[in-house]
Amino acid sequence: MTITTTAAVVEEAGAPFVLQDVELDEPRPDEVLVRMVATGLCHTDLSAQAGTLPFPLPGVLGHEGAGIVEKTGADVRAVAPGDHVLLSFSSCGDCPQCGAGRPAYCSSFHALNLFGGARRDGSPTMFRDGEPVHGHFFGQSSLARHALVDERSLVRVPEGAPLGTLAPLGCGIQTGAGAVLNALRPGAGAKLAVFGTGAVGCAAIMAAALSGSSRIVAVDLVPARLELARELGATDAVDAGAGDVVAALRDLCGGLDYIVEATGSTTALSQAILSLAPRGTCAILSTYPHGATIPLDVNFMIDGRRVVGVSEGESDPRRFVPALAALYEQGRLPIDRLIRHYPFEKIEQAAADAHAGVTIKPVLTFD
Ligand code: ZN
Repeated sequence: MTITTTAAVVEEAGAPFVLQDVELDEPRPDEVLVRMVATGLCHTDLSAQAGTLPFPLPGVLGHEGAGIVEKTGADVRAVAPGDHVLLSFSSCGDCPQCGAGRPAYCSSFHALNLFGGARRDGSPTMFRDGEPVHGHFFGQSSLARHALVDERSLVRVPEGAPLGTLAPLGCGIQTGAGAVLNALRPGAGAKLAVFGTGAVGCAAIMAAALSGSSRIVAVDLVPARLELARELGATDAVDAGAGDVVAALRDLCGGLDYIVEATGSTTALSQAILSLAPRGTCAILSTYPHGATIPLDVNFMIDGRRVVGVSEGESDPRRFVPALAALYEQGRLPIDRLIRHYPFEKIEQAAADAHAGVTIKPVLTFD
């Protein structure tokens, strides 16, 4: 028994999103069929579409879904049909990191979320004319009217929650906000900088504004983005195109205690590390081109400086995503400032606007 739905299929690396009919497998005991209401479009989707992330194609991307549960597998206890849900990354639930409450570092993370294109046992979740199509992207592949979702990817939210605004909480927003609130945890008086003011960087700035940080410096090449960053809580801004970023940060506030690197540029990462104060920490949030490396002045690191990779904001989505939703409801995490909605049929326009930087966070809506 399968269900037919419409998905945005990417045929091969660099090909456009094309809406096509696909068939979804019947939910397994730990899976849930969700009717999508909205799905955020993230640079990770666009990288996989372009082929710079090795997701197998043809396939269906999408990993910031929000919708309504239609059907649950036999063993599912967390949700029931009719429940409103946000979708996040998947995890295995039984490796040491999952056991420690750190599912973002699940030993099966890459296979379950990025590169597998199928369930952990290799079986396909999605078909086209009876032939397998790669799916299960972040346990969901939610650029489709329906998605077959891992129970561990689901976060239940109250019925009245604005799904079209909350959809990006499941990846981009929790990545930025979690880096600050879960990983770096800046205390009162901390000096923090955020390199890159896309959706992830803006979320980090909003989260920093909720912390005790006394300086929150936004660094970007686009002056309009820096204006927005100030409105979201940045106390200062550095135009990375206007000269020596390291010198500008030093002039502004000396060394930084915390830096969030959210550009994906190795040049920016090098500048960020050189801007750290003694015992300062630089968190790497982005994906970089495969095999990317940077030169590192090892003597500079001796003074207690750290560089740490942070995945998915070190979040346990079932605990952290509802907390972020509550902050939004209270007006303390204005993510709606980042979002522009597009009907699902306009996905190519949404992707073009994201590439051009016209829209920080496109969210597709399904009628
Ligand atoms: Zn695991």
